[in-house]
Amino acid sequence: MTAHEVRDVIVVGAGVAGLAAAHRLKEAGRAPLVLTSGRGIGGRCATWRLDGQPVDYGVGFLHGVDPELVAAIHSVGDATPIPGWPRHVEGRGTPCQPRAFAPQSARLAYAEGVSAFPKWLARDLEVRRQTTVERLALGDAGIVLTLASGEQLCGRDVILAMAGPQAETLLVPLVEDSDEVDAARRLLAMLGALPSLTVMAAYDPGTPEPPFEMLYPEDSALLQTVAHDSSKRKAPRALVLVLQALPRWSRAHLDTPPETWERMLLDEAGRLIAPWVRAPSVTRTHRWKWARVDAGCELSQPLLIPLGAGFRLGVAGELFAPGGGVEAAWLSGHRLAGRMLESRPS
Ligand SMILES: Cc1cc2nc3c(=O)[nH]c(=O)nc-3n(C[C@H](O)[C@H](O)[C@H](O)COP(=O)(O)OP(=O)(O)OC[C@H]3O[C@@H](n4cnc5c(N)ncnc54)[C@H](O)[C@@H]3O)c2cc1C
Repeated sequence: MTAHEVRDVIVVGAGVAGLAAAHRLKEAGRAPLVLTSGRGIGGRCATWRLDGQPVDYGVGFLHGVDPELVAAIHSVGDATPIPGWPRHVEGRGTPCQPRAFAPQSARLAYAEGVSAFPKWLARDLEVRRQTTVERLALGDAGIVLTLASGEQLCGRDVILAMAGPQAETLLVPLVEDSDEVDAARRLLAMLGALPSLTVMAAYDPGTPEPPFEMLYPEDSALLQTVAHDSSKRKAPRALVLVLQALPRWSRAHLDTPPETWERMLLDEAGRLIAPWVRAPSVTRTHRWKWARVDAGCELSQPLLIPLGAGFRLGVAGELFAPGGGVEAAWLSGHRLAGRMLESRPS
């Protein structure tokens, strides 16, 4: 593609929101191109391979009440669902999403990792990975996207599907062109996102199995969750725990060297569970600067802003449906695509 070639619709972000939108548009006969900065697909619905063993290091399991979302997460081909995970929950601390445990909420993990869901949504889509969009501008033929490589692409419709602060940055150059974009940018600037520092820890064979699948400690100032990740795997080679820190503690340590906060989180998990937890054989850290939407800050629907001569800018992501999380991300993308299809400009 050259700078002068115009695409029908470009989706920025291959998380659940962007893929849900692109999937629905493709099913309706449109030709979305998905661009995403990461090496993998799924964004915060993320699975790492530790010596080949899947490890979920963003959201640990999928959950929801919307019938279409529930049907979608149960129909992922090439994945082995683990309905109801986590069944063995310990601790009375607050889950990342308390409504995951509401009686009507379906819960599910996959033996292959949670990224099986976004990968399934992406299966028929044209996705360009490791492609970061740095700037948007209004052009004569559509919305022009300048990539980190310097290449320019143009879309008649463009969807931003990412964390609120990331979308806000991309909106800045367009505020001169549209009062609606300006209002959207101001709104996003007011809405926060919660960070989470995460440690994946693998242990040598023979290590005792923890009695829980998920621990929500009620007496920790550091840890929000400890997931017994290897309890989701078919024949795990290693016992793997995933430690995720509380938002306030994470924010205070975002700029601390990872080896320092990793040690603190392992020591805390050792205090809560057993001394062996302090000494894993392999670790990996991840700093989620924008892990989750701040509960109560979500908007009720995705944005669809007309720009110039029939071009449209859509904004989706977990922030754009009540409740946040994967369900809101999926709903926002699915609904935005529906609105775009209903109101296609002539
Ligand atoms: C630690 C943690 C715990 C969580 N716990 C839960 C939970 O219990 N329940 C729940 O439902 N949810 C939970 N979540 C939240 C859930 O993972 C997210 O709500 C959901 O995955 C967000 O999907 P999204 O598509 O909106 O955004 P993302 O998944 O962030 O996808 C956006 C994608 O866009 C890419 N991108 C951003 N900017 C650009 C750019 N300029 N150019 C190109 N690409 C770009 C990003 O790299 C990313 O791949 C948790 C998340 C984390 C991190």
